[in-house]
Amino acid sequence: MKLCGTSLIGSKAVVGSEAVFKAIDPATGDTLAPDYRGLSRTEVAQACQLAWAAFARYREKSLEERATFLETVAVEIEALGDALVKRAMAETGLPQARIEGERTRTCGQLRLFASTVRAGEWLDVRIDPTLPDRQPMPRVDLRQGHVALGPVAVFGASNFPLAFSVAGGDTASALAAGCPVVVKAHSAHPGTSELVGRAVQAAVAKCQLPEGVFSLLFGSGKEIGQALVADPRIQAVGFTGSRSGGLALLQTAQNRLQPIPVYAEMSSINPVFLLPEALQARGKEIAEGFIGSLNMGAGQFCTNPGLVVAVKGEALDMFNTVAGEAVKSSAGQTMLTPGIHAAYVDGVSQLAGEAREIARGASSEEPHQCQTALFATCAADFLAKEDLQAEVFGAASLVIECEDMAEVCAVAEHLEGQLTATLQMDDGDLDAARVLLPVLERKAGRVLANGWPTGVEVCHAMVHGGPFPATSDCRTTSVGSAAIHRFLRPVCYQNLPEGLLPSALKETNPLGVPRLVDGKRG
Ligand code: NAP
Repeated sequence: MKLCGTSLIGSKAVVGSEAVFKAIDPATGDTLAPDYRGLSRTEVAQACQLAWAAFARYREKSLEERATFLETVAVEIEALGDALVKRAMAETGLPQARIEGERTRTCGQLRLFASTVRAGEWLDVRIDPTLPDRQPMPRVDLRQGHVALGPVAVFGASNFPLAFSVAGGDTASALAAGCPVVVKAHSAHPGTSELVGRAVQAAVAKCQLPEGVFSLLFGSGKEIGQALVADPRIQAVGFTGSRSGGLALLQTAQNRLQPIPVYAEMSSINPVFLLPEALQARGKEIAEGFIGSLNMGAGQFCTNPGLVVAVKGEALDMFNTVAGEAVKSSAGQTMLTPGIHAAYVDGVSQLAGEAREIARGASSEEPHQCQTALFATCAADFLAKEDLQAEVFGAASLVIECEDMAEVCAVAEHLEGQLTATLQMDDGDLDAARVLLPVLERKAGRVLANGWPTGVEVCHAMVHGGPFPATSDCRTTSVGSAAIHRFLRPVCYQNLPEGLLPSALKETNPLGVPRLVDGKRG
């Protein structure tokens, strides 16, 4: 498929009229054809109008039709073949295996949402039948189901050009919920976005859905991204990116005449706690596993382990030595964009100014290389300096050396909200873990033992969320089938005649969805 440099507004390809930009190959610094032109605010409004017009029909589609649509999107993405992989590699500097794996994950995610839609559990149907003889008052018939919120604005992430971009988790879960989607493409991978956008557009046509179910907009976040979130027809926002970008969109959403929910995933340093017995018994192995996780994808994962916390002593010194050696032999890796690379260099130099350097990875003359970096500081300094908690996006991490377990707990208590918290522990560490766990539950969306936070399974039980600033809404997840709940709201139908009730709520349960009837699962 030839790239045309166009936005997609419903079924049309539209050449914008605002500033021109091109993708940059971060491995060479070269620009990549074609030109992309930003859209105007008028064109953003057109996409929102189409999405609004499509909403009434799309939300009424049967579960089967919606599921088939999601599966068709997956098939269309797979049909893009090598062209998609090559373009994504050129625009991100990510290796072939990673992009291919991400494509598999993206299509698997779409199919997971298709099966979720069919199963109908997400409708969370609750029925309290009428009790005409109840004293002192009879009870009326009450039935709760869930309905789609309306058109959703999705901001593609730079670090997952497929799995968290145009047809990624936010888009898949919103479409599954019955919401049309308007994507603001990430400017770092426009070609990848256009290819995937055309695949979704083709699926909309094949499934004979209203064209406004999907649009893809190119242009500056500060211009058209803001206009999109401010548009009164948009009813929710999905975002993955910087803390400043997420907060700016949150503010816009809250300042609207009708404020709307923003599900922004922003910043997390993913602490790893090395408990004493595990550190003593397996320090070397843990150190090697840690650097493997730190270096994955040049550290450009939201779950990258940016903080290690342990009690100081010989075992931690040994850990630092082994981890330092692994850092020194870490090769440079190309980062996603010149901007992300510049922010990384800045973040590392700030850490270097405030903490003790353990080691740095190999330096390289190639453009936009991530040089792995590991630092250490004492708990007292960490507790005193707020900026040591700032996310450094890339393969940099900080070891916090504590006097005792009480100080480890104080560090945990001091942390901002996180996507993950990891315990490296052996059986003898159970008591220490029991003390930490209630703190970590308050701080993180996912608590894990003896693994690494990078590598997020897309499944039913996953929580990829957490208290601020990990996300703007700690009650939700952006990965896994539960992500659908972000784009739904409950409606209670009181005493409605059978003929007016949605199918899932009818007495005969024609869809066969699971229901809670009079408090009992059926
Ligand atoms: P970003 O700058 O937040 O951009 C993400 C998206 O939001 C882009 O489409 C961008 O538009 C838009 N945007 C940014 N600021 C905006 C604003 N004020 N109003 C409206 N839209 C706005 O994130 P990024 O470019 O992917 O990476 C920059 C930094 O974000 C990284 O260095 C890292 O610190 C952080 N990051 C964190 C995660 C994570 O998962 N924790 C993931 C990715 C990035 P444009 O396309 O016009 O820029």
